[in-house]
Amino acid sequence: MNVLAIGAHPDDIELGCGGALLRHVAVGDKVTMLVMTTGERGPQDSVSRVLEQENAAARIGAELIWGGFPDGAIPHSRETVTFIDSVIDAVGAQVLYTHGQHDTHQDHVATALCSLSAARRLNRVLCYQSPSATAFNPVVYVDVEETIKGKLDALACHRSQVERCELVDLEAVEAGARFWGHQARMRYAEAFEVPRFVWDITGGEAAVRRVESSAVAADERADRQRLGVIDGDQNGAPRPVPVYLVGGRRP
Ligand SMILES: [Zn+2]
Repeated sequence: MNVLAIGAHPDDIELGCGGALLRHVAVGDKVTMLVMTTGERGPQDSVSRVLEQENAAARIGAELIWGGFPDGAIPHSRETVTFIDSVIDAVGAQVLYTHGQHDTHQDHVATALCSLSAARRLNRVLCYQSPSATAFNPVVYVDVEETIKGKLDALACHRSQVERCELVDLEAVEAGARFWGHQARMRYAEAFEVPRFVWDITGGEAAVRRVESSAVAADERADRQRLGVIDGDQNGAPRPVPVYLVGGRRP
């Protein structure tokens, strides 16, 4: 499966869906990151951000495409949509990750809106959360328990931001993943708003993982009972298992 993730600035993609991209890579999907600007107006020179982004993409195992748009002034225009169109075609994207559109940063909003226009023929489009989001109501979650460390490692490549931008806070990123994981009945998750997502209901991998999760939960429950720890609710109901799984199988 060919996956395209779009971000306005270096580090946006890693913040929003780095864990999911690592899972795509792990199952053999081809992942491409399109970064619209070099973030040259941030608290550092653009050269460092280019190198940081290249290192982060390499750590994820993704190819990297630069958009070449001016930081702070990505136009919401036909030209931007046409450019993203061309990238979708070039990489044969089947799944698209992009910004959510409710955000204080004009580049994030423009990227979100232009991406959605360009993705008009795709049937799997997921929008991730940024620290500057003003509203975010996810309905799809990706289990990133196995990739949260890799996501933090990729983010750490953006050293200029980790050290100088209070919005890039690795501790907060991990806490956020834990929060969304709790919402989705798993340990760590990334969350997505979904303009459009076709669910293959025959999903064998999802079914297998769910059985495995149930088996693990049963083993853990037995251990806890041996140790005298009360599990589940007061009626003895088992803990819920993950139900939202994306990226674990190929179409
Ligand atoms: Zn950004």
